[in-house]
Amino acid sequence: MSYLVLARKWRPKIFEEVVGQEHVVRTLQHALDNNRLHHAYLFTGTRGVGKTTLARIVAKSLNCENGVSSKPCNECKACTEIDEGRFIDLIEVDAASRTKVEDTRSLLENVPYKATIGRYKVYLIDEIHMLTGHSFNALLKTLEEPPSHVKFLMATTDPQKLPVTVLSRCIQFNLRAMDEHEISKQLRYILTQENIGFEIEALNGIARQSKGSMRDGLSLLDQAISYTKGNVRADLVRDMLGMVSDEYIFDLLKAIATVNALAALQTVEKMCERSIDFETALDDILLKLHDLSLMKIAPAVLNVRSKNLDELKRIDELMSPEDVQLFYQIGLIGKRDLPLAPRPQLGFEMVLMRMLAFHPNSAQISQASETLGEGVESPAATSTKPFQPARESMLPPTAAAQPKPASERLPPTVQHPHRPTQHRQVRTIENEEDWIQFVNYSNQLTGWTKIFASKVAFRGRSGNKIYLQPPAEQYTSITREQNRTNLLRDLRKVLGDDLEIIYSPGAKSTTTPEGRMARERREKLAAVRQQIERESIPKSLRKEFGAKIDSDSIRYPTLPKTVKKNEERWWKT
Ligand SMILES: [Zn+2]
Repeated sequence: MSYLVLARKWRPKIFEEVVGQEHVVRTLQHALDNNRLHHAYLFTGTRGVGKTTLARIVAKSLNCENGVSSKPCNECKACTEIDEGRFIDLIEVDAASRTKVEDTRSLLENVPYKATIGRYKVYLIDEIHMLTGHSFNALLKTLEEPPSHVKFLMATTDPQKLPVTVLSRCIQFNLRAMDEHEISKQLRYILTQENIGFEIEALNGIARQSKGSMRDGLSLLDQAISYTKGNVRADLVRDMLGMVSDEYIFDLLKAIATVNALAALQTVEKMCERSIDFETALDDILLKLHDLSLMKIAPAVLNVRSKNLDELKRIDELMSPEDVQLFYQIGLIGKRDLPLAPRPQLGFEMVLMRMLAFHPNSAQISQASETLGEGVESPAATSTKPFQPARESMLPPTAAAQPKPASERLPPTVQHPHRPTQHRQVRTIENEEDWIQFVNYSNQLTGWTKIFASKVAFRGRSGNKIYLQPPAEQYTSITREQNRTNLLRDLRKVLGDDLEIIYSPGAKSTTTPEGRMARERREKLAAVRQQIERESIPKSLRKEFGAKIDSDSIRYPTLPKTVKKNEERWWKT
């Protein structure tokens, strides 16, 4: 016997076998069992979701020799002939190939005559949106007053193109695209029945690639079975689909998080050798970024859904929530532009470079790349590099302790707004820059203590004494007492148990960590706005229609409500 492709072999023959369209199935079953049949049904939905499959089951239900019901026997002459596509009273038409009005007329000429052997004459018109206006008019007359022995079953991927006059004479069923889980489950079921070995991960990959179409999923599975010689293994399926191993995606994200351009490019090179599809790779990056942002908000959901959770956690520690959002946005825009790039690899690399360019630590790009060029440090090693105290800490403590206006005191290098790395552990605090890094970017302070500290400016350091300038409004507050105790506790962990904090009010102009953070965010936002304005509107649109970006609409993701509330409460106490 010749090999029957899975999509045909496993095409559902009864309503119960139809996957993912319960709402439609239930309504149809009810109509058939209660003899409340309309004369025209329209099935809409993307390709491969089961439109014509459902229509055929309806045709069987109508013509089964055992009577009209939602349970056709699948054994009688009518049922088997419909399954085999040779039932004389089921007239299947592909409208895409018969668009002309003459075609439609000749098709409809036979409508008045009774069914030859069946109970009903069933017209199954696929891709009906392809008909021309005249054809629709010809059809419309029949749809208005069809003989009782005729049923129309129509299918389309594009109902928008149908005239309302036609639409209003049909009962419309909208079939939904299937989700990956449903497709994967069905693939698993089929392979088990077929006694073919498989790895779940391989099926998940195929399901993802099918983009909601069961038919595509099954044809890919056919391919996979022959490609893997009958054992559907994940690594082979990945090769076949040009899919990306998670390993590469994590390597790329790590490279971005640690601002390591060279590592990113090397990974791309490796991917290229395995002829990986870069559009899929970009999708995978977006999916992982989505996981990362879930990790911060709803980790429980993630635990269920994601594998490689440990790997994800490691990346999570390297990226702030704002950066995750930013990279996601850049990735989305990059995905849109990818087809325009001279080569997919180039387009993909540009997206990565853009993420690196907008990274808060972008100033480190060259430096990080140089280090890697010597093959000395891996991306991970770069990221765990201990905090480097600025030059001043080399001076004896007394020299650094003289409080001076910040602008005079800071060496030019540390004034760069993009210096900090998120969650870097700080080992010492000798000057204002250290203080700002410590408060804003290490994770050694948390909660209210961190909020409090972010409003406190650094004044100097001398031996075991650190001079801080508290926010004036809060100087006598009781909650501040608590904050001060906590801050002292946390600072002692870093600077030693004998540390003392001396609070002294001072001039307002000193930079607080909060002020610095605000400035950095402003600068970053301005840069992103500029970039988006420059790149996201094609020149022609700008020229012809004067298209503009509303740059005010480009904003930072707003803070979670609880954080805002805490902050407000803090100021009120
Ligand atoms: Zn039957």
